[in-house]
Amino acid sequence: MTGGQEPGGATALAIVATTPEVLAHPGLDEGLLAPWERRRLAGIRLPSRRDDVLAARLLVRLCVARVTGLPPDTPALAQLCPGCGGQGHGRPYLRGRPEVGVSLSHADGLVAAAVGPGAIGIDVEPSARRPGPVHVLRRLLPDADVAVAAAQPDPGPALLRLWVRAEALLKAGRTGRADQGDIRFIEWTDRPRAAVAAVACATPITIASA
Ligand SMILES: [Zn+2]
Repeated sequence: MTGGQEPGGATALAIVATTPEVLAHPGLDEGLLAPWERRRLAGIRLPSRRDDVLAARLLVRLCVARVTGLPPDTPALAQLCPGCGGQGHGRPYLRGRPEVGVSLSHADGLVAAAVGPGAIGIDVEPSARRPGPVHVLRRLLPDADVAVAAAQPDPGPALLRLWVRAEALLKAGRTGRADQGDIRFIEWTDRPRAAVAAVACATPITIASA
């Protein structure tokens, strides 16, 4: 599958994969990372976590390549912290391509990436993970959605989906409800990979495979 343009407007592209799938992908290897990213990888002691971080950074390059048509070693992936203004952590962006939104996520052997026009956020979690506290969800999402999920006989899966949605919203930089009018969501469960994922952005979203 490919992302890119569809008639009438731009489309975002999202991919969820396992870390081993990405690391085995032809054309993706550690050499694509910038020196600052490789320095950061070298500081991660836990090998599985290091692999997850590497795979997420490779997957976002694959997404950028598919959306922009640029080869995967071209994009200058950078990060800017909205909290302290520092580089190298915080929200990812493409240097020189401010119109292209990028987001990535990793969790316990799973990775996800999304690329599209404007603000975009993606989150992936193992489907067995317990959701975060309901009061935090209430603060981030419309009460009605959280109340409906919490009222189910087994609320865990529905609350986890909302939790993943809330994380995607945070990553898109849309934390206030007044900000969220143009934002649309896709949430899905990837059963073969035992993953729950969500994308938040203002355009239609295509879900592809790596
Ligand atoms: Zn910071």
